[in-house]
Amino acid sequence: MDQNLVRPAARMEQLGTETAFAVIARAAELVAQGRSICNLGPGQPDFQPAPHIIEAAQQAIRDGHHGYTPSPGIPKLREAVSADLHRRYGAEVDPGQVLVVPGGKVTMFYAALMMGEPGTEILYPDPGFPIYGSVARFSGATPVPYPLTEDRGFAFSAEDVLSRLTDKTRLLMVNSPANPTGGVVPKEEFDKLVAGLAAFPKVAIMADEIYSQMTYDNHNHTTLLSYPEIRDRLILLEGWSKTYALTGWRLGYGVWPAHLVDYAERLAVNSHSCVNAVAQYAALAALEGPQDAVADMVAAFSKRRRLIVDLLNTVPGFRCVEPGGAFYAFPNIEGTGLDERTLQRRLLEDAGVAVIHGTSFGDMGEGYLRFSYAASEDVIEEAIARIKRFVATL
Ligand code: PLP
Repeated sequence: MDQNLVRPAARMEQLGTETAFAVIARAAELVAQGRSICNLGPGQPDFQPAPHIIEAAQQAIRDGHHGYTPSPGIPKLREAVSADLHRRYGAEVDPGQVLVVPGGKVTMFYAALMMGEPGTEILYPDPGFPIYGSVARFSGATPVPYPLTEDRGFAFSAEDVLSRLTDKTRLLMVNSPANPTGGVVPKEEFDKLVAGLAAFPKVAIMADEIYSQMTYDNHNHTTLLSYPEIRDRLILLEGWSKTYALTGWRLGYGVWPAHLVDYAERLAVNSHSCVNAVAQYAALAALEGPQDAVADMVAAFSKRRRLIVDLLNTVPGFRCVEPGGAFYAFPNIEGTGLDERTLQRRLLEDAGVAVIHGTSFGDMGEGYLRFSYAASEDVIEEAIARIKRFVATL
């Protein structure tokens, strides 16, 4: 860096980023140049929010909701979150422990800042959402990845995770259904994990359940809210982005242990004050209104998942296990003879297909690509046809 320029604090060097945004930006550039790109990069539903959600936002504007709201969220919305968790899981959640934040991501940032400091460790999945390791490092803690492997359908092994806990571990991050693999952790594995955690009472758990409503076939979502023995150290990360196709509205929430919620609220007051008032009314309508749009979207994803997995397995050099949830497939591509970065770049530049290389989600993503099937069946079919033509030239 130029010595004459102001210097940021050293910790700024610790923050990572999300490669997905760079790929999406490059794909958009190519489209602007007139290229045809099959875009299987973005981690967001390709659906519009249900009309009653949009109507609620318009009504909130007409009703004059333009001011600050209470920092943790409008009381009705916190109550609706609690009611929704009760409806879905039978869980008892005090609305006072719900903190509405601008996006699911914010809860992970707060969890890392609250629990991490030099001399501590934060465990997170690899391959996993790239921000886990980034915010863990930023907090001053040592980020400790635990592996998710193809032979287990990318579900963690409780035994393996527990073996990595030490007296320095402050926070364990888990994500099911998962980005980037689509892996869903079976209930028995969560049972084992929670049983083992009894020996580590000082470890907090952050459960990223942002894809909770997207599971397929015989895969079922297990919420960590269903284990009373860890409720006083569980941070639940959830939100509206994926379930209600509201990624750009920046809406999420955390359920915090009673003794930590005030700290989380203080972080909110010190950063964003509150979530956009209009968006909160839309979020309320999303939870309280009809859920058919969610069911329709998940049914569409289920069909596309079948399609993309079957097609990926016909590409020479590709091997794809069935993802149980979310809207991602994570094939192994080592058989093509190209590494994941080169293949990602060449698929975009030469074949016109945007996907994300596996190592943007951690070292264990080596040899893999992430395909988002939040795209139409036509786009998926065309993308795989292009990939096959490209692979035939290697
Ligand atoms: N957690 C996971 C696993 C994700 O994949 C994402 C988004 O891609 C998020 C959290 C963040 O969601 P939001 O857009 O609500 O911040």
